[in-house]
Amino acid sequence: MSDPAEQPVLSNPYDGVARYGLFIGGRWVESRSGRTFTSTNPTTGEPWAEVAEADAADVDAAVRAARRAFDGGWGQASAAERAAVLRRLGDELAKPEVIERLAVHELLDTGKVVRETIGLARAFSGWCYYFAGLAESHRGSTIPVPMPETFAYTVPGPVGVVAAITPWNSPILLMLWKLAPALAAGNVVVIKPSEVAPVSTLEFARVVERAGVPAGVVNVVSGQREAGAALAAHPGVDKIAFTGSTATGRSVMRSAADNLTRVSLELGGKSPNIIFDDADLDLAVNGILSGAFAAGGQMCTAGSRVLVHRSVYDEVLARLVRRVEAIRIGDPFDWNSEMGALTWSRQYEAVLGRISTAQVQGARLVTGGGRPDTAPSEKGFHVAPTVFADVNMSMELAREEIFGPVTGLIPFSTEEQAIEMANDTPYGLAAAVWTTNLGRTQRMVNAVRAGTVWVNCYRRVSYAAPFGGLKASGLGQENGIEVMREYTEEKTVWVDTHPEPRDPFRLA
Ligand code: NAD
Repeated sequence: MSDPAEQPVLSNPYDGVARYGLFIGGRWVESRSGRTFTSTNPTTGEPWAEVAEADAADVDAAVRAARRAFDGGWGQASAAERAAVLRRLGDELAKPEVIERLAVHELLDTGKVVRETIGLARAFSGWCYYFAGLAESHRGSTIPVPMPETFAYTVPGPVGVVAAITPWNSPILLMLWKLAPALAAGNVVVIKPSEVAPVSTLEFARVVERAGVPAGVVNVVSGQREAGAALAAHPGVDKIAFTGSTATGRSVMRSAADNLTRVSLELGGKSPNIIFDDADLDLAVNGILSGAFAAGGQMCTAGSRVLVHRSVYDEVLARLVRRVEAIRIGDPFDWNSEMGALTWSRQYEAVLGRISTAQVQGARLVTGGGRPDTAPSEKGFHVAPTVFADVNMSMELAREEIFGPVTGLIPFSTEEQAIEMANDTPYGLAAAVWTTNLGRTQRMVNAVRAGTVWVNCYRRVSYAAPFGGLKASGLGQENGIEVMREYTEEKTVWVDTHPEPRDPFRLA
């Protein structure tokens, strides 16, 4: 990409600190307590934005505003009206200036580089258009029941107030995975973005405002974990759509149980990236980079354990190290930069901790392992892309989520061993298989327990393809036609056309 329209020159638009309120009922308001908190720019380690801090009272106000919007019209809006609103939102999100503004805010909030945040921002409108289409095509069914002169059919309707609770790694995208299908099905939404990177979601709310989404249909309450807990426990919420850690997911599910709230959970992962001896190694090494170092490895689907067949292990390691040592870390606004900072100080410390534990446990550090020399600032949360060799399945590196630019190579000898290692984890989010053997592809797809299996690719997602985790990686799916079920309640309607009374004491 060298076309200036493709690679616009972007920069921080703020001289001082950016300020945001809460977006409730179509209005920007301060928190009731007047409290605010700051968001840190991970590249510089300095605060760059100050946002209102919602507490339980603000969360309650947002849920009530959402309910009013639902009862006041949105809940009865026709499919065509809902689709029109989503298309307007898509049109706003497709404007180059909006794409650039959201990309800049996500860059400043998450520390990711411009090529990543622009790529994400260019994809956002697609979610709105796809779900606008589904709003119009989503329908019930006619059921062939065995009773004479009787019809049964289903009518899909919205669930009501949806709580969308999101993490810090891809704030807008993971929020849109919830918001777009929720609105398509006729729901209203209260979003609680992560306290670590709340700003791009608040900036997104400005786009919602400009797109003319009716007041109260989308609300954003930035706040700490307590605000998330208050939202998850709120009896006025009808469905919780959560993305975050497995530990928090369990707590969300406990809250949901108290109110019998519907819940979907997208949680952590420890995805195996499996390279067979018949793989195209150029593609496979590229896939290791994509799985472990794109977005600084801060992906739920990160390929943080690479299982490599013994006969190609040394070759893969050598090629990987050459590529990893060439990764460019620098100013996130520079289009040449490939990796930025980790999003926050605690994650930075946690990743450095994982690296030192790996060394203590006997993994061989081949490259990286600390701060990179090219970090653009002393106070930024930068970690050099790190590769360990000689990792085994008992090490923490092979078992725990890292959420940083670190991966470990583990050798295997047989397909059975690769399958056993791949499944030796509580998680089941994603896996990748690199092979040119079609039969092996099918055997691996069948045997590996993961919600997504990539074959000769990594990190592919689309609004059109369902995404969800097995085992401790979650419940339910996002994206695709399948997600509409998560945001729909179906009524079954029975119509008896028989003119005479039937025997009241007989079933059917
Ligand atoms: P987190 O669980 O700490 O926080 C996620 C959100 O939940 C935040 O908004 C937080 O404020 C809120 N929260 C915290 N405590 C809560 C509670 N008791 N009740 C309700 N909400 C609460 O996760 P994180 O550190 O922000 O994100 C990283 C995690 O997210 C990783 O484990 C990663 O694998 C996972 N993740 C999963 C997916 C996926 O699609 N499966 C995608 C991205 C990230």
